[in-house]
Amino acid sequence: MLPPLPPEQIVIRPPVEAYSVLIPITGGCSWNRCRFCGVYKNLQDYKIRNIDDVLRDIKIAGKYYLNNPYLFLAGGNAFSVSTDYLLEVLHEIKQNFPFIKRISTYAKVLDINQKSDEELKKLAKAGLTICYIGMESGSDIILKQMKKGQTSKMIINEIPRLMSAGIQASLYIILGLGGKKWTEIHANETARVLNAVNPTFFRFRTLNIMANAPLKEDIDNKTFKILSPLEILKEERSIIAQLSPSLTSALRNDHVSNYSFVQSDNIGKDKERILEILDDLITNPEVGKWKHKNLKRM
Ligand code: SF4
Repeated sequence: MLPPLPPEQIVIRPPVEAYSVLIPITGGCSWNRCRFCGVYKNLQDYKIRNIDDVLRDIKIAGKYYLNNPYLFLAGGNAFSVSTDYLLEVLHEIKQNFPFIKRISTYAKVLDINQKSDEELKKLAKAGLTICYIGMESGSDIILKQMKKGQTSKMIINEIPRLMSAGIQASLYIILGLGGKKWTEIHANETARVLNAVNPTFFRFRTLNIMANAPLKEDIDNKTFKILSPLEILKEERSIIAQLSPSLTSALRNDHVSNYSFVQSDNIGKDKERILEILDDLITNPEVGKWKHKNLKRM
């Protein structure tokens, strides 16, 4: 086995941050137990970088990318570091990037839970714009089965707290996470939580199992049956069909693992249009022949 990657090495970032300045804050993931995830397992241990190294990197990056308006604080859950640490980092970014418009990071629901309303407000005021958060499912059965370390109640409590403080929330939903057995409950419960939270964004990802994810064993021994692309599209349709027309969230389908491309800046307004597009896909005989993508990397 290869030695773990150092914490300053970035393993993953959201596709939407492809052109952002990337500053590593943590390496690995402080949780690292989700059964569907192999991103950091045996690859990079959780570690918080020395703040002096981070501040130095920001100064250097500022010289080369002065005009770049987007910056992503990297690491599996950089939001797990202390608020004081983050405030210092945000202050340095403001000093070195005068045209900055968006500072973002990954966060776990548990990380948000560890910060008070006051701390969240301070972070928003210091310039933290958006957190990308793995909601994954609204179903407590699936969240527990996948060892996500959060419940639907925690999601419903913590996400509005983050948004009330002035930080946008972008929630990831993993299509197919319940497999064939729980597809209906996954769709119903995910729609329920989205309706309760009304996040700034929600983004679909499709379950794609890397060889080192614990769930791979269940797939190999057939105790977990993955959905076909057509079933994934039906699940996506079912979630959207159950969303309240009053939901103002933006929907993004910005991942290579997905089978649909539907997007909206206001899902409540665009729901019928999106459903029509999905129905066209679902009734297209060619789509029934599509194979699961089985990506080697995320
Ligand atoms: S899905 Fe996110 S929280 Fe879960 S182990 Fe992977 S990086 Fe960590």
